[in-house]
Parts: sequence; C-alpha cells; structure tokens
Amino acid sequence: MRCVFFDRDGIVNTSPGPGYVERLEDFHIQPAFLEAAAIARDRGYGIAIATNQRGVARGFMSRQALDKIHESLLDHLRATGIPLLAIYCCTHERNTCTCRKPQPGLLLQAAQEHDIDLAASWMIGDNETDIEAGRRAGCRTILVNAAPPANTRANHIIPDIGGLPNTLATLL
Ligand SMILES: [Mg+2]
Repeated sequence: MRCVFFDRDGIVNTSPGPGYVERLEDFHIQPAFLEAAAIARDRGYGIAIATNQRGVARGFMSRQALDKIHESLLDHLRATGIPLLAIYCCTHERNTCTCRKPQPGLLLQAAQEHDIDLAASWMIGDNETDIEAGRRAGCRTILVNAAPPANTRANHIIPDIGGLPNTLATLL
C-alpha cells in the first residue's frame, strides 16, 4: 500500500517547543492534521505516525506516560474515523539506534509490517530531520515550516499546518 507518514509534535499536535509533551493534558491535536489525514484516507493511503521521543531516554518522561498519550491519540483517531496503521516511536538516545530520525528506521519498519511502497509514499514533518528520514526511506516529503532551512531537501514546503489539507488534496 501507499502511506502518508506524519511526524507527531508540530504536525499531529501543537509543538511543545524545545521540550517534550510529558502529560496527556498538554497534548493538543491540530484540526488541520485531522483534515489532512482524512484526505489521505479518502485517497486510499495508509496513515502512520513516526516520532522521536528522546525524552524517555533522557528521563523526562516515563514510557507509561508516553504510552498513555499514544493510547489516547489512537482512541481519538478511531472515534474520528481515521484508521491509523501504527504510531512508530523512537525513544532512544542519540547515536544508539537506527530508528531515530533523520535515520529511516521507523519508516522501514512500517514498510515491512504493512507492505508499504515507500517510493509511492509521503513523509510530512516540521523539521529537516523528518525530511531526511523520508528521503532516506525513498519517500517524497513535505516540510511544514515558516522558516525552512535554506538547504532543505524537501520536495514541497508550506509555511503553516493550515495549508496541509489543500496541499495533500493537490498532491495525493
Ligand atoms: Mg516535529
């Protein structure tokens, strides 16, 4: 299948800034993400989330707290009619794994588990590391960032998450 991979913080939910979302009450789903995911669903794409959560390795949050947030997210998406393949999550410290974005491990794992055609798939993120992970996995990429790096390798750039539904409606 074809898939749209969404980064979590800054795409699925409002960005916590430089820190981590450590508590469920600080996790706020962005309506534009729900709209974008519905478009991907309607166009026949699988939907998955690929997220780095190094806060676990650094001791800022427990694995249980993270799981609680992700269970709540899965429940919400189910209730909204958005079928999610899975939340792929790297909780490791830097340079200790092959799944922390910008490495493509999370996407490669998803591809193996769900028979995903990565060349026909998309990675969407607000950070160049998301773009790099998507690129290394062979996906096309969309960077959602008002101040993108000059040397970004993203295939498409939009300044604001509000523009994502229209962009996907055009591209998918
Ligand atoms: Mg992000």
